[in-house]
Amino acid sequence: MDDDHVSLDHADVFIAGAGPVGCATAHAFADQGWTVLMVDAFDPPTPRPTAEMVFPPAVELLDRWGVELPPGRSVRGTGVTLYEHGGGDPVELRFPPDAQPLVTPYPDLVEAMRESLMERDGVEMLYGVQVLSVELDGSVHTTRGTSDTQFRADLLVGADGRWSAVRHRLYGEVGQAVTSHTASVMLEGTGLTGYEQARVITDERGRCARVHAMGRDLLGIALDLPEERPPDDDVRAYVEKHYVPMLPPELHDPLLRVASEPERITWSGEGIRLRHTYEHGRIAMVGDAVGHQHPLLGIDFTMGVGDALCLAKYGRANGYDRARPEDSAGIEYAARHFFEALTARKPETVGVRRLLWEQLRSSPAAREAAMRLFSVDVRATGLVPVFNVLEEYRERQEADASSADPS
Ligand SMILES: Cc1cc2nc3c(=O)[nH]c(=O)nc-3n(C[C@H](O)[C@H](O)[C@H](O)COP(=O)(O)OP(=O)(O)OC[C@H]3O[C@@H](n4cnc5c(N)ncnc54)[C@H](O)[C@@H]3O)c2cc1C
Repeated sequence: MDDDHVSLDHADVFIAGAGPVGCATAHAFADQGWTVLMVDAFDPPTPRPTAEMVFPPAVELLDRWGVELPPGRSVRGTGVTLYEHGGGDPVELRFPPDAQPLVTPYPDLVEAMRESLMERDGVEMLYGVQVLSVELDGSVHTTRGTSDTQFRADLLVGADGRWSAVRHRLYGEVGQAVTSHTASVMLEGTGLTGYEQARVITDERGRCARVHAMGRDLLGIALDLPEERPPDDDVRAYVEKHYVPMLPPELHDPLLRVASEPERITWSGEGIRLRHTYEHGRIAMVGDAVGHQHPLLGIDFTMGVGDALCLAKYGRANGYDRARPEDSAGIEYAARHFFEALTARKPETVGVRRLLWEQLRSSPAAREAAMRLFSVDVRATGLVPVFNVLEEYRERQEADASSADPS
């Protein structure tokens, strides 16, 4: 096979899904000299009004891979300020200058990454191709329009997101309990500044809002609802009643205007899927296909880039499946418990929430650990002792339940 032409019959690696993590995987394998065939069902990418937060060292990788975001369509995030609506003082977490993420809209990042891959030797991309199933012998069945095609590769990578067809083929239905619903909107042209420091606002009822800049005069707002999403006609009244009081007054009018136009809101059913479906034979998964955290933490893209680099380093699924969880399980554990402690409504979590806020306000070490969690740094595991309270409570509950069980 010559260097700049990939045979469609057999590439070294076949990647299902050209989202941000699939593209990072293609670059990482091309860096190692592999030939890559990547397919996606859609071009252009789905217009999600959400942001991706790209943390160093992934920022340097984007540079090296020649990923150029359009002017004005990204900002450097300075940190996150946590607010407890109706509670005490906010807690400001500042990223050190060398750990500030690049924050950019999802479609801009995906387009820019796809374009950068067109410049690379040994990478071929096909769009409008839907992966139907994969086989353990390295063959892939796809459909494009009315024609079905089969590809083969030494390594198959499922980078096809949360509802991964590749994972489904290997593991069957891997459930994700939907625990909340998130409404995402993009506000352009408000003239509001200062949101390079993202705001995450929670209340005692488990509601959560995140506001941050993601470009010049471009804000992203995500509202996480612990209950069912309201019907379209009721969204404005619902947002006005429950979320407007949590948000800075300058956002009220722009947000309510969007809330009156249901087509400008993108809804997603949210929850957490533990990251454990890494590989099977010559098939590996990366990014959201492996698992994901709650999106309001904003760490999943960086987790996915870690998957891509680790898989390309091993060059096979076997080995990756052990090395990657070793690197990422700590941050995953801290992230899961942190979000649960801030938002869940179970009685034990409300107690832990008070403890967490108390620690964040009084302890520089807890603030440092939380800052590291938001910047996807393993040193976030400094928070783990707080979460042990939750684990211990549950163990006690289970012990009580079994001792009360007459059988
Ligand atoms: C509301 C919301 C807010 C978020 N905010 C942030 C944030 O601030 N920071 C952050 O880091 N992350 C955030 N995330 C998460 C982030 O968007 C994902 O972690 C990231 O997009 C995962 O990338 P991926 O490439 O694994 O999957 P995806 O982005 O889902 O890409 C999968 C690709 O596979 C393609 N595909 C799927 N099935 C098939 C098939 N059968 N055949 C062919 N192609 C297929 C799709 O078209 C898509 O292009 C957010 C998510 C949501 C929902």
